[in-house]
Formats: sequence, structure tokens, C-alpha cells
Amino acid sequence: MLTATAVVERNAYTAAMENFDHAADALELVDDVREMIKYPERILTVGVPVRMDNGRIRHFDAYRVQHSTVRGPAKGGIRYHPNVTLDEVKALATWMTWKCAVVNIPFGGAKGGVTCSPKDMSAGELERLTRRYTSAILPIIGPDIDIPAPDVYTNSQTMAWIMDTYSVTKGYPIPGVVTGKPISLGGSLGRNEATGRGVFYTIQSACQHLGLGLRGATVVVQGFGNAGSIAAQLLHDAGALVIAVSDSTGSIRNNKGLDIPALISYKEATGKVSGFPESEPIFPQELLGLECDILIPAALENTVHEENAMRVRAKVIAEAANGPLTPEADRILDSKGVFLIPDILCNAGGVTVSYFEWVQDEQHLFWEAKDVYDRLERVMKTAFKDVLKIHQQRHVPMRIAANMLGVGRVAEAIQLRGLYP
Ligand code: NAD
Repeated sequence: MLTATAVVERNAYTAAMENFDHAADALELVDDVREMIKYPERILTVGVPVRMDNGRIRHFDAYRVQHSTVRGPAKGGIRYHPNVTLDEVKALATWMTWKCAVVNIPFGGAKGGVTCSPKDMSAGELERLTRRYTSAILPIIGPDIDIPAPDVYTNSQTMAWIMDTYSVTKGYPIPGVVTGKPISLGGSLGRNEATGRGVFYTIQSACQHLGLGLRGATVVVQGFGNAGSIAAQLLHDAGALVIAVSDSTGSIRNNKGLDIPALISYKEATGKVSGFPESEPIFPQELLGLECDILIPAALENTVHEENAMRVRAKVIAEAANGPLTPEADRILDSKGVFLIPDILCNAGGVTVSYFEWVQDEQHLFWEAKDVYDRLERVMKTAFKDVLKIHQQRHVPMRIAANMLGVGRVAEAIQLRGLYP
């Protein structure tokens, strides 16, 4: 039986700190500023008791980390996954801070997580878990304080439950407390596909920069979920050949190009990619080593690490996931000349449209899908250009360039606000 790609144990927070230090060194940031912006501002750990369908109470560990509110309210998704740890949530919150600054939206960074196995829980159990978790973090969230959104194994329904739990406590509807909501509850058109669409726009920019045509380009996607499947769909529409994809159940390949719309329908119907007609199964570790133009890791952290990075044969890596490459993998791939679109740039489309959703909720005025896409394209392509400029002018890898842009903007903001302690 094929199993999911092995994930080497590496602490994502250590990687986040390491990348911060590289960027801060390159920016020659003074120590006082580093001390002010490097670490999370607030960490809340909560125990969440939930009555399960069998009538018994079960305890879940859960977190909300606000890394920064220097440039605006904290912003970041909520993840439900068995491997969630406090360090992972701290890393994801830290990346959110730099990501919001890279795309220049007025938010800081946050992240939440619940250590649970959502695939083994009923809808009722997930609703009770979500409502109790929301009550536990309620004192520190709000439209002007900290605004959650979906992440791995949470979705618009989860956001609707959070919005409802928060609103009934306050006594009136407050849609701006979360983004990624259903459209009928104040969600934005285009939010569901925003991350994948943003990935696509940055790939377009990278291909233009590298002189690589998208028509006929070969693409491999690891993690055929929200971000991965939508990026695959848009690349397919642009004439690229998506030759292999995977999810947590297995990996499949078709050298002539997979029929992505049919695969999306198949995954919706069966919950998996494996067994898709006109595809052959391959081992997950083989998938990352396939020769292709564009590799999109779109699952979880630490997918490409020092033991498998040498096997990667892609020209471009577009990090739809957060932290899919370890710092060791970065060094190996950089030395091989692979062009990297780093996560805090590549997957920033999600938080950008979350920002649009929050603006629409605050103004009670909703935009057409085309307005959302046009604005998103402008934001993503401007951010790509800004990062590329630093990469070229300062001769630093794209990851460090993106971190320099994000960290630099937060550093500037804290200095303008004043070093208050
Ligand atoms: P999702 O739950 O919709 O999809 C995740 C996919 O990865 C699923 O298909 C799952 O089966 C697959 N997967 C899990 N483990 C795997 C493994 N070991 N090998 C192969 N596939 C595996 O989640 P998503 O929202 O698409 O998030 C994916 C990544 O993108 C995460 O790193 C997330 O933080 C990041 N991201 C998401 C958003 C967003 O708006 N959804 C925004 C920014 C970043």
C-alpha cells in the first residue's frame, strides 16, 4: 500500500527563527528592533473538553498565538491536525507576520491550532469542538484584535460556527471576526480559491522572469487540497500539464497530463486521488523526484529536507504550503539553481483575499468576483516584483529576499511607532 510522504522531524519554529536571523542580518537590524519583533506577543494555550458522540468527554489541546500586532490586528488561520504542536503554531504565526507585510496589507500575524484527528470525528463533534475552542480564545479575538481564517482541515463551515459563537456572546452579528466564511454570512467571492489563485499568479510572474512558457510546462503537486487543487486547475486552464499529484492517501501520475477538472470531481466524490482513472499509482517519495518544470508542495511543513532535496528535478518550486522546505533543503536547492517562490510570497493570496473580505464586512459593501481577482493579481504581482528586486540587487536567495521585505516593513513600523518599553 502506498503511504503518505515521510515527513522528517524538524522544528518549524527553529526554521522560522533561522530565516528571521538571516533577514535581520542582511538588513543590519539593530538588536533593540530584533528583540521587539522577533518573538510572539501573546500565546494562549487552552484545554478544550468536548462531548463525543459516544457520550464521553474528551480533552483536546489547543492554541492561539499572536506573533505581531505592529502593523494591524493579528491575522491567521486555524489548523485541525493530529500533529499540531505549540511550536508549529508559533512558526505559522511568525510566518503570517512577514507574509502580511510582504503583500503590504495592514495586519499582523497569528495562528491557531487544535491537536485532533478531524477525519475521525463526526460533524457534530467538530462543531462542538469548534464552539468550545472559540469560547476559550474569545477574549483575544475580534475584528479589530485578531481575525482567524481556515487552514488545514478547517473550512467555511468551521468559520461559520466561530462567527456564530462569537456573535451570540456579543449579542449581535459580527461577521468581521473571521474570514473564509460562506458567502451568505459575509464571505467574499473568490476567497475559497484565493490561495491557489495567488500561487498561480506568482508562478506566472516567475515563468515570465525565467522565460519559461506555461503552455506545455510540466507540473507536480504534492497535497491536492484547497491550495494545491486550485493552483493545479488554473495551471491546467493555462495549458500546463499536471503530470502527478498526491494527497494523504496516495500519489498518482499520468505523463500526458491528468484531467484536473475530472480529478477534482473524483476527489470530491471519493475523498481521495488514488484510483483515479487514466492514472497510475506511484510512491510518494517518487513524486518529489519527478522531472518537471514546476513543483508545488501544497501539504504540510518539512516535506523537502536534506535527505530528499538532492532528488528534486524541478526548475521552479512554488511553495503553496507553509514551510514545506527545511533550511537544509533550501541550501541544497539553491546550490542546484532551482528557482524558489517562497511561501510567505507564494501562498499570500489567501490572506490577501481575507483582507478584502474583512474590508467588505467592515464596509457592508460587497465586491464582484472580477474586482477580487483583479486586485489580487495586482497585489501578488507587485509583491513578486518587490521580492525579486531584493533578490537581484542584494544577491540573496528568494527566501531571504522575501523575509527581508517582510521583516523590513515590520521593523520600519515598530520604529515609527516608537520603541515603547
Ligand atoms: P487542505 O486540508 O485543503 O489540503 C491539504 C492536502 O494535503 C490534503 O489533500 C491532504 O490529503 C494533503 N496531505 C496531507 N498530508 C500529506 C502528505 N504527507 N503527502 C501528500 N499530501 C498530503 O489544506 P490547504 O488549505 O490546502 O492547506 C495546504 C497548505 O497550504 C498548508 O501548509 C497551509 O498552511 C497552506 N496555506 C493554506 C491557505 C488557505 O487559504 N487554505 C493559505 C495559505 C497557506
